Amino acid sequence: MREQIMGLITPTMAIVFCAVFVVLWWRGKMGNYVLGFAAAYLFFAMGFGVTHLFDTGSPYVFHVTQFFYTLATGAALWGLAKRAGQPHHLGAILIIYALAAATLFAAILNSNDISSRLVIVNMGYGAMKLVTVMVLMNAHRREAIDKLIIFTQAVFAAQFFIRPVLTLTLEQGIPAEVYRESIYYSVLNLSLALISLMGAMVLVGACVYDQIKAVREQAELDGLTGLRTRRAFEQDVVELLEKSKQGDIPVSLVVADIDHFKAVNDVWGHQIGDNAIAQFGEIIEGTIRDTDIAGRIGGEEFCILAWNCEGEAAVKLAERIRVAFAKTQIRGMPEDHRLTASFGVAGRGEGEGYGRMFARTDAALYRAKEEGRNRTVGDRVGVATSVVTPINKDVADKREARA
Ligand code: GH3
Ligand code: MG
Ligand code: MG
Repeated sequence: MREQIMGLITPTMAIVFCAVFVVLWWRGKMGNYVLGFAAAYLFFAMGFGVTHLFDTGSPYVFHVTQFFYTLATGAALWGLAKRAGQPHHLGAILIIYALAAATLFAAILNSNDISSRLVIVNMGYGAMKLVTVMVLMNAHRREAIDKLIIFTQAVFAAQFFIRPVLTLTLEQGIPAEVYRESIYYSVLNLSLALISLMGAMVLVGACVYDQIKAVREQAELDGLTGLRTRRAFEQDVVELLEKSKQGDIPVSLVVADIDHFKAVNDVWGHQIGDNAIAQFGEIIEGTIRDTDIAGRIGGEEFCILAWNCEGEAAVKLAERIRVAFAKTQIRGMPEDHRLTASFGVAGRGEGEGYGRMFARTDAALYRAKEEGRNRTVGDRVGVATSVVTPINKDVADKREARA
């Protein structure tokens, strides 16, 4: 009786963890991979409940438990692979299940001793967990929490291989009728309880970690453009400048400012002004490379750090953005109207920090404004002037005429 009650601890715990994952997914608006974790613990509780509550003398119990445990392993693999952005290889789990189930069927036909059944099912789960470890090992980006997950999955795999071998050498054969009184069954209960608890703690930790990371990333992104906020941009620039110093990699700064923007707000309203800012952000995002970073550093001011890029190439980058923006129809603005922007560019000087570099780039932008706007001015790296008429200059003139 005592054994019976103690045995309910693990499935109860598993159900609680399942509920925790569902709540994290639902209230925390987390990715579907968290549902994979919830399903894994639900199936695990069902499998465990079946072996514990039903007569192990019946061979069907083994098949049913194996079925649920396989579902649990599959759901965990699906969730973990999805979280790591890896293919799940559930086909491998299916093949292992088919092989183990067929071998189990043959073993049940041939003997009442359940040692062989235990070895078969455990080897199967061990193999499934090995697949999980291999899938996770393939992920490119591995942070401390990912390594911890791999470690727990590897421990999972190891105990499936080691436990039956160890306990069965102590106990030789186990007739089905005395299965629950065996040392094997006690060790199984204890190790499954510990490992599922450890696994759940690590997975809950991973969910919390993912959530904090998402919130932090959200706070670092500007709501209108999806580019970095000024603070996040400056932090990342300082880091990148340090890296460029160490690796002797050229970097350049580009500062952009939309021309006569006050007039845009005045004539067409703030909402259309916002559209222009958002569309400018889209053009920047679509033009820079993955290794460059960009931020919205003011109302309609943007800054780009072009990585591995000399001043001349950065002027070309700025020109591509300038020309694309001058051709863009801003949502909500009349068809025949276009906006323009001015750009300042500077390559990094010997031993220069962000402050000095930004001051030179900003001075170049000031010159671009002075020289008539809708152009790129490079500091020390040549000047590329525009060929596009600054259409929104008319808007400013109209505004002045109205005033
Ligand atoms: P210049 O060509 O010299 O840059 O002229 P400008 O009118 O663009 O001058 P400035 O850059 O000083 O104007 C910035 C204006 O941008 C002032 C402010 O009303 C507007 N602005 C700042 N943030 C936002 C925003 O989030 N949305 C909108 N719609 N307007 C903004
Ligand atoms: Mg402006
Ligand atoms: Mg401005």
